[in-house]
Amino acid sequence: MKLYSTKHISPDVDLKEAVLKGLPSDNGLYMPYEINPLPQKFWDNLDNYTFCEMAFHVAKHLIGDAVPDEALNKIIQDAYNFDAPLIEVGDYSVLELFDGPTLAFKDFGARFMGRLMGYFLKDNDKEVNILVATSGDTGSAVAHGFLNVEGIHVTILYPAGKVSDIQEKQFTTLGANITAIEIDGTFDDCQALVKQAFLDKELNEKLTLSSANSINIARLIPQSFYYFYAYKQLDDKSLPLYFSVPSGNFGNLTAGLFAKKMGLPITKMIAANNSNDIFTIYHETGVFEPKRSVQTLSNAMDVGNPSNFARMMDIFANDVQKVREEIAAYSFNNEQTASCISNIFEEYNYIMCPHTAVGYLGMEEFVLDNDLNPYYINGVILSTAHPVKFGELVAPLIGEEVAIPERLQSIINGKKLSIPMSANFDVFKAWLMSK
Ligand SMILES: *Cc1c(COP(=O)(O)O)cnc(C)c1O
Repeated sequence: MKLYSTKHISPDVDLKEAVLKGLPSDNGLYMPYEINPLPQKFWDNLDNYTFCEMAFHVAKHLIGDAVPDEALNKIIQDAYNFDAPLIEVGDYSVLELFDGPTLAFKDFGARFMGRLMGYFLKDNDKEVNILVATSGDTGSAVAHGFLNVEGIHVTILYPAGKVSDIQEKQFTTLGANITAIEIDGTFDDCQALVKQAFLDKELNEKLTLSSANSINIARLIPQSFYYFYAYKQLDDKSLPLYFSVPSGNFGNLTAGLFAKKMGLPITKMIAANNSNDIFTIYHETGVFEPKRSVQTLSNAMDVGNPSNFARMMDIFANDVQKVREEIAAYSFNNEQTASCISNIFEEYNYIMCPHTAVGYLGMEEFVLDNDLNPYYINGVILSTAHPVKFGELVAPLIGEEVAIPERLQSIINGKKLSIPMSANFDVFKAWLMSK
C-alpha cells in the first residue's frame, strides 16, 4: 500500500511509515493512492460474513500485502470482540457503534491502530512511549486501544478535576502498560507538556516517543468497516442508502467516503453538525473559514477546524459542487438536539446520546428537504456514543435515569491509579527519564 501527503511535498510512504509517523512533515494528511471497488466475490459472500471476516476482506483489499493475512486476521479478531447492531428507530435505522470498552465509536479506530502499531513495532528492541494529552474522551479510547499491546507504553496527561468521573475512571483504572498523570493545571498545560517533550533533544535520545494522533490513517481505515456492516444488516438492500453522520473532525464521514469508493452503494452522505457549522457554511457558500469552537451538548463534535477537511478536499479535488453531489450538510442547535432526545424517547422508547440526536435530526431534515418517503429508503444514522456517557444531560430530558451497562459498572468500581504532578516540564521530564 502506497500513501501520499495531501500537500504533495513530503515523499510517498508505505503503510508502516504512515502509521508510525502519523503526520507527514509537510503538515498534510496521508491518503491511500488506490481505493478500488471490492471484487464481486465480496458482495456475494457478505451475508455470510461475521463482522471480523467482513472487516478482514475490506482491510486486506485496502492495504494489500502491508500486513500478512495471519497477522491482519489476528489484529482484527483481537480488536473487534464486540458487535455493531442495526436497530430500527421510527422510520430509520440506528447503527449502534458504542458496544466497545469506552462506549463510543472511537473504539473502532483506536483498537485497530493500537494493534497495528504493535505489529509494526514487534521487532523493535526499544519500547515505544506514546504520550497523550486529553480533556476526556481521547484518553480513554487511546488507553483502551493500546491496553496490553506489547512493546508500547502509554502515558496519559489530564487536568486534575476537569474531566468527568466516568471519563477519569476509564483511563486511570487500567494499570498494565497505561500510566495516567494527573496534572495540576488545564488541558492546555497538558498539551504543552506533551509538545515540549516531543521537542526535547535529551528525552528523544533516551526514549522513542510517539503520538496517537486522531488523524492517523490507521484510525480511518477501520472506520470504513462498519458502513459495510450496516449494509449487510439491511432487510431490503435495493432501496437507496443514506448515512447520517454526527460530525466533528469528519474522520467518521471520510471513512464513509472510502467505503463508497470501495463500491458500497451509498446514494448520499449527510453531514450532521451541531452549532459548530463551519462545514455547513462551506457547503452553502463554498467558503471554508475555520473559527473558534463553541461549546454544545454534543461536545465531542465541538470542532472549529475539522482536521479531515483536507482529506475531503483531496477526494473532491477542491470542488464544492462535487461535495454537494455526494454530501448534504445541516446544523442543529442545543434546543433542537434536546427536543430530539425527548421526542424519540417518547415516541419509540429509544434513548440517544446528544451526538446521535444530531445525526437523527440530519436524517429527518434531509428527507424533508428532498421530499423523500422514509419507507422507500434505507436511512441509517450512525450512533456514536452510549447515552449513559451523557447521563446527566439525558436523564432530565427523558424523565428517568439511563441504566449503566455492566462493562461500565466494573470500570466505575475500579481503583483509580494516577500520579499527581505539577504542570512543570522539568518535573515531567525527570519522571520520563527515570522510567
Ligand atoms: C469523536 C466523536 C464524534 C465526531 O466524529 P468525527 O470523526 O470527529 O467527525 C461524534 N460523536 C462522538 C461521541 C465522538 O466521540
